[in-house]
Amino acid sequence: MHQIQEQDRPALMPALRRGLLGRCPNCGRARLFASYLKQVDRCPACGEAYRHIRSDDAAPWLTILVVGHLLAPFILWIEPGLTWPTWVSIALWCSATLALTFLVLPRAKGFLLSAIWAMRAPGSERD
Ligand SMILES: [Zn+2]
Repeated sequence: MHQIQEQDRPALMPALRRGLLGRCPNCGRARLFASYLKQVDRCPACGEAYRHIRSDDAAPWLTILVVGHLLAPFILWIEPGLTWPTWVSIALWCSATLALTFLVLPRAKGFLLSAIWAMRAPGSERD
């Protein structure tokens, strides 16, 4: 497999959209993740290397930002009008937070890996 030429790289927005969907930011034909959060070493479709790209704690940070901004206003808006027991509220909001976190985290990581890749900023680690 060959490395892509710089002029063949997709623009930033298509690369970000592909990463958000968990697809290779370069070609979009193969999955970016080998498992839930482990990125592939190389895209099996186009051969682009992703092993050297690290998003570190940016994905959890972005996930907290998104989940917090989605749930907190909703909870503050709906909770004062509820008459159910406190334990139901705790169980409901904790479950909703966990479910949304598990949904957003891989998308946040895909988005950030794609941004790092598209901006050619993989850091000090090289393939
Ligand atoms: Zn690819």
